[in-house]
Amino acid sequence: MKLTVVGYWHGFPESKEATSGYLLEADGFRLLLDCGSGVISNLQRYTELNQLDAVVLSHYHHDHAADVKVLHYHRILRHYGEGQERPLTIYGHNEDRESFAALGYEGFVDHFPIDDTKPFTIGPFTFTFVKTDHPVPCYGMKVEHETGSFFYTADSSYIEKLAEAGQDVDLFICECSLYAGTDGSHIGHMNSTEAGKLAEKANANELLLTHLPHTGDHGQLRTEAAEEFTGPVHVARRGWTRKWN
Ligand SMILES: [Zn+2]
Repeated sequence: MKLTVVGYWHGFPESKEATSGYLLEADGFRLLLDCGSGVISNLQRYTELNQLDAVVLSHYHHDHAADVKVLHYHRILRHYGEGQERPLTIYGHNEDRESFAALGYEGFVDHFPIDDTKPFTIGPFTFTFVKTDHPVPCYGMKVEHETGSFFYTADSSYIEKLAEAGQDVDLFICECSLYAGTDGSHIGHMNSTEAGKLAEKANANELLLTHLPHTGDHGQLRTEAAEEFTGPVHVARRGWTRKWN
């Protein structure tokens, strides 16, 4: 299994970059985890768009789902241009029926509701979804493959059930929208101290901070999280990669 960070910015992308998007590859299957603004442009640095098999969305805020419509257009143009493409399914929750219905595009892109009551198989991966604490319904997820595992918090304020859901993973991917000392609980986001604390409670091997703020020095986020987490702390960058063999 291989994970590549396509985008990691909070809210909007910096120039030539993207908000949340992660490419997951294993056994010839390619899955995009979240599809924020700028993701479809930047994803092409790492794979051809028509090689994509599935998209999984944590929630429908624009910094996680804005480029879904752009992906629809790609499928339509490819269809009429070359008439040959792999089927694509977009997975998301069905608690916001209008947003869920908009994931599909008749005849071009399928959509399928996620289920958080039991492990969920997509290609070679097993997903276990857990609801986070965010102003709209949002799901974090543990992803397992025969080579390893990771947990992705998506967007959330600090809640310990995310540590339980991500117990003993190889990599804990935690949103880190704020610097230490800033309380994000009322907006459904975490700071660096909370990210470190959550990864430590999860007993994860490594921590990747993502969904990063547009201010300050991201190196400071690493230092702050490392005060709570005893393993290696990484800060997301476009193209950051983790490979499991
Ligand atoms: Zn977000």
